[in-house]
Amino acid sequence: MKQEEGALMQWHSWVDGAWTSGEQSVGTVINPATKETVAEVATAGIAEVNQAVASAKKAWQSGPWPRMAFAERAAALFKLADVLQSQAEDLIRWEVLQSGKPIKLVTYSDFPFALDNLRYFAGAGRVLEGQATQEYNGVHTSWIRREPVGVVAAIAPWNYPLMMAIWKIAPALAAGNTVVLKPASITPLTALLLGPAAKEAGIPRGVLNIIAGPGALVGDALVRHPDVAMISLTGDTHTGRKIMAQAASRVKRLHLELGGKAPAVVFDDAPLDAAIHGIAVAALVNSGQDCTAATRAYVHRKHYEQFLEGLQEVFDQARLGDPMQKDTDLGPLVSQAQWQKVTGYIEQAGKQGARIITGGRHLPGIGTGFYADPTILADVEQHWACVQEEIFGPVIAVMPFDTDEEVLAKANDVDYGLAASVWTQDLNRAMTMSKHLAFGEVWLNDHLPLTSEMPHGGIKQSGFGHDLSRYALEEYTVVKHVMAEIHTDAIKPWHFTVLGDVPEE
Ligand code: NAD
Repeated sequence: MKQEEGALMQWHSWVDGAWTSGEQSVGTVINPATKETVAEVATAGIAEVNQAVASAKKAWQSGPWPRMAFAERAAALFKLADVLQSQAEDLIRWEVLQSGKPIKLVTYSDFPFALDNLRYFAGAGRVLEGQATQEYNGVHTSWIRREPVGVVAAIAPWNYPLMMAIWKIAPALAAGNTVVLKPASITPLTALLLGPAAKEAGIPRGVLNIIAGPGALVGDALVRHPDVAMISLTGDTHTGRKIMAQAASRVKRLHLELGGKAPAVVFDDAPLDAAIHGIAVAALVNSGQDCTAATRAYVHRKHYEQFLEGLQEVFDQARLGDPMQKDTDLGPLVSQAQWQKVTGYIEQAGKQGARIITGGRHLPGIGTGFYADPTILADVEQHWACVQEEIFGPVIAVMPFDTDEEVLAKANDVDYGLAASVWTQDLNRAMTMSKHLAFGEVWLNDHLPLTSEMPHGGIKQSGFGHDLSRYALEEYTVVKHVMAEIHTDAIKPWHFTVLGDVPEE
């Protein structure tokens, strides 16, 4: 049960339709803008993981959820969206407190998009399609069933805590699965609030369980659990590799949305002002803690210095500050560890000889939080870490190029393959680049927007599977082919291939 302890709330996991009570230890949630503790969370142990999976298994095997009329399931999910909407103020406040995200980003982007996504899947669950029914070989009628997978372990990251949780549970529940959700241990609060909201929406107990705790303990136990049929992770590529290895022993279904290192390619015919502003926004979104953020800009040599000048102007206008204030553009990074990682990359690039156009400073002035300076690194080399690795901070590396072939090769020359953008007014160039860029999504003359109706997912080491759209819904189902003999003859013309003589010609 969630309790009030003085000013500090103590939070628990949500299992089988109620708050749990038997956890082993208490962790804290820190406001990254102030480093103050904003909540205490009882960490789930192996016992709670087992209870959560048992509850989800029971709801899957004998509960009403997978057997419900599709309209009824849709109504419950629409109701969940309405309940969350009615709690908007509370949810947004906790989201900002635990993550340091600017309140305007949560209020006008994350939160409404999460609810839109939930409502999209509530409806889309009713229109899952299979292949046409036909007698493909003349004597059997075939049809396709799309069935839910079973108990889904949904493991979410800290960068969009509520939205990523909804991106996972919405298609999984809409398809008829039951879920154990594990939010990131540093940002569990808004995901935990989904538990009582689901109860209020009339979603039966056990259908959605939420456990709080560290990945290495709780996440690992969940992933290994024999009754978990599918694991859906959004997180670091390193975590994806570990989970793949754990899933192998029981050949579990996987859905992996992993890291990114998105290039933004600016050609000599690009709408330059739009490119500068669009790429700055895409680099600084959520303080750069976004898997699709523009992290590498390749700019045609003709516009290189002008682009840097314009980008610097926009970066320097970014207002860092208290995430609770609605005129704050950038909040802090989520944690001390993330701050150290980001500043480490900037320092390394500086030592390697990068031209630091702006930023790169330590920012002791803003509160006491984990603020990182929006930084532009120019004249960097393709093989440097700041170009190859995911920094996950407000940092962009900018490089000049001369030819289309050169920039295509460089844009593709990373392990990741999540997102990319191309800035040009030449239709053929846009078509050619969008075909050859090895990324799961490519924007033309923009960078970042997503919509619930269209898929989001990576290739290469950015993982596989899709969030959003009917493709995500399909991820959380299995395809079953049913084949029915339409004749009643005891001996079929092909039986001789197993029993009997080959018929004479
Ligand atoms: P992370 O991999 O550290 O953690 C993600 C989740 O996995 C957390 O809940 C964590 O507790 C859990 N986890 C960690 N180790 C585990 C283990 N051994 N077994 C089971 N669970 C484990 O990632 P993060 O730092 O929280 O999030 C940032 C990362 O997420 C970045 O790499 C970012 O690119 C990626 N991301 C990708 C997308 C996408 O759509 N591809 C979207 C958002 C974030």
